Amino acid sequence: MEKKLEGLLAKLYRNSHLEKPELLYLLEKITYQRAGLLFAYARKTRVKTYKRRVYLRALVEFSNHCRNNCWYCGLRRDNKKVARYRLLPEAILACCSSAYQAGYRTVVLQSGEDEFYAATVLADLIQTIKKECPGMAVTLSTGEAPREKYYRLYRAGADRFLLRHETISTDLYERYHPGMNHEQRLQCLKELKEIGYQTGAGFIVGLPGQTDAVLAEELLFLKEFDPDMVGIGPLIPHPETPLGNSSAGSVEKTFILLALIRLLLPEVLLPVTTAVNTLDRHGWEKGLAAGANVIMPVVSPAECRRKYEIYKDKSGVDYAALPEIKRRVEKAGFELDMSRGDSYSYKRLRSAERSG
Ligand code: SAM
Ligand code: SF4
Repeated sequence: MEKKLEGLLAKLYRNSHLEKPELLYLLEKITYQRAGLLFAYARKTRVKTYKRRVYLRALVEFSNHCRNNCWYCGLRRDNKKVARYRLLPEAILACCSSAYQAGYRTVVLQSGEDEFYAATVLADLIQTIKKECPGMAVTLSTGEAPREKYYRLYRAGADRFLLRHETISTDLYERYHPGMNHEQRLQCLKELKEIGYQTGAGFIVGLPGQTDAVLAEELLFLKEFDPDMVGIGPLIPHPETPLGNSSAGSVEKTFILLALIRLLLPEVLLPVTTAVNTLDRHGWEKGLAAGANVIMPVVSPAECRRKYEIYKDKSGVDYAALPEIKRRVEKAGFELDMSRGDSYSYKRLRSAERSG
């Protein structure tokens, strides 16, 4: 590997920071085949912060109705071919309870942007989950909402919120999100953090028009925003969307980006997302080897999983039962940690509150 690359990787490992031209240089030069040193630094960093632990999140996809029309997503409102469903609160609770029985201590409630679920309904549900599943962390991934709704749900006990910013380029954001506003997306993220949620941002890898320069900006934005969690995944074109004929995002580039994110944000909770595992059947293993430390198996009922068609052929492996997940994680040299797996900044805040 050339000296300049080695020098930049060592600097990134040491300082958890690089300037934009330096990140751009890495993004342009590093290929998956030549990323050994990058992955080694990323693994060393994750071992320093998280040892070999891998946290699990039970993902409940509770509604595939969506008022938005994102150009890449099979749940977009103009896709008339998707069979829509909604789980009622009792059914969502049943999914959470069985995940809890199985040992999960985080549940992620995800849906399209579906106004059917009013703040009061979700707040009641969160309170019930907290009561019936003591010690369970509740993560929401339900899209944009007014600050009051976010606040209400936080007060009801929600711990974390995942809201990918999707892309930091205003041009690309406005091209692929008709009727949505980039500034508002970023404002939502800011508000979630201010309210006190452990907050997750992230972007899609391989949106048409996304250059390495844009990817360098994605990384710098994440560094500056300093989220608790980052979710990234390759674009998987869905045939019933305007991006249906586009090429898929590169899963290899996604592994490189995961490693760079680990080095820029050593403490971040970093999942290997379903899209990665869908494009590469060893996605979990390779993602963990690149510095990721979270896996999010889907636990919603089979008929919902089929209909939650963000893209086609969503990975079957993500529905695996715990023993299979454990086997794969251990074979890859890691160990499952069934605790809540809160972020470091959250833990620091809690311990400061206790001592102050
Ligand atoms: N509706 C909520 C939102 O948009 O924040 C949460 C659910 S949405 C399905 C979750 C994520 O799926 C989005 O943030 C987006 O990045 C990702 N996604 C949607 N369609 C995709 C596709 N075709 N390929 C890869 N990722 C996709
Ligand atoms: Fe709706 Fe989220 Fe899909 Fe966009 S990505 S169409 S907001 S479900």
